[in-house]
Amino acid sequence: MNRTAVGLIGWRGMVGSVLLKRMREENDFSLIEPIFFSSRNVGGYLPDWVDGSISLQNSYDIDLLNKLPIILTAQGGDYTAEIYPKLRHRGWKGIWIDAASTLRMSQDSVIVLDPVNRDVIDSALNNGIRTFVGGNCTVSCMLMALSGLFKNDLVEWVVSMTYQAASGGGARHIRELLNQFGIINKSVEHLLNDPASAILDIDKNVLITQKDQNLPKQNFGVSIAGNLIPWIDKDLGNGVSREEWKAGVETNKILGYNENQVHKKYIPIDGLCIRIGAMRCHSQALTVKIKQDVPLNEIEELISTGNQWVKVIPNTKDLTINSLTPVAVSGTLNIPIGRLRKLNIGGKYLSAFTVGDQLLWGAAEPLRRILRIVLSQE
Ligand code: NAP
Repeated sequence: MNRTAVGLIGWRGMVGSVLLKRMREENDFSLIEPIFFSSRNVGGYLPDWVDGSISLQNSYDIDLLNKLPIILTAQGGDYTAEIYPKLRHRGWKGIWIDAASTLRMSQDSVIVLDPVNRDVIDSALNNGIRTFVGGNCTVSCMLMALSGLFKNDLVEWVVSMTYQAASGGGARHIRELLNQFGIINKSVEHLLNDPASAILDIDKNVLITQKDQNLPKQNFGVSIAGNLIPWIDKDLGNGVSREEWKAGVETNKILGYNENQVHKKYIPIDGLCIRIGAMRCHSQALTVKIKQDVPLNEIEELISTGNQWVKVIPNTKDLTINSLTPVAVSGTLNIPIGRLRKLNIGGKYLSAFTVGDQLLWGAAEPLRRILRIVLSQE
């Protein structure tokens, strides 16, 4: 069998590493001829589990990229912004699959999350679309959780307050979080080891360390350990962060809710995006206005049949603290959703809390699945 050549770019990063792990687990490499690229280590060694003698290729080599039928990149937005237009300008007709946000809102791209928008993907493929982009991680995880309500046209609007993990910023952010934790712990180690020490002394010293100019904070700008940051991504200048803007525009594009696409409507989605010191997983507290006062047990049923990964967690303390946390979900494809209850505002106002591994359903998984879909059509 002739295997399709696929250029893999950005595989060393946070998303890329998880992507490769999933592709190996699902035996995706049996279907492709992978060509590994690098921006900083050209000529270096391939990952040790890869057969073949070709060393790492230069990810800025346009001539080589131009020969590939499929390119899959998790390198980041700057790379996409530089390379993609050059390639298309040369007349490259290949399939571009991307984790970065750069091309998400372009007219010629589709945001992929096939358990939710397979109809939009199929229609795009039929119409000759060649650019497929993974969605914003929080948006994809929210849609996986609520897909049963969206499919049944029950959602009037959603407010999403997020708790986003440090790894959402990439590999360097997670190292910085752990380095900060280590330095803070060291700064009070002697006090922690002494059961007689005063708790306010510990508290005071931790705060001094968190505010210390020498604390490593090149990536977050401030301490993220023992802290939170209520702003993610760029400032759009109107009180909205770019991460918050993505919730509405990307959700609607994923669902094909746009006058020019499959369905002619638009669902308002808004909220605040907060970075917290979790390692992995984006969590979100949702308020959903539903179109009809559907009983809670029916809502739970509809949510749990949305897709095979979503799981309703009964609204009890025990099950919530054991099943609805980043620690419980990290490294799995499960999308638990709990804290489901009608708010005392009225029967059409639903609360929910959901957690999803933003590196899996929020990044790597939709990319490897669209690769499979594209390969199945060739
Ligand atoms: P990342 O971890 O920073 O990796 C991106 C690139 O940075 C790597 O491919 C690598 O390229 C380089 N790099 C520099 N220092 C590194 C280090 N110490 N360890 C590993 N790689 C290092 O970024 P990412 O989180 O994977 O994000 C990639 C793209 O996916 C971005 O556009 C991001 O917005 C998007 N995305 C991220 C998430 C998430 O949760 N992180 C979720 C959805 C989408 P070289 O090997 O060429 O040096």
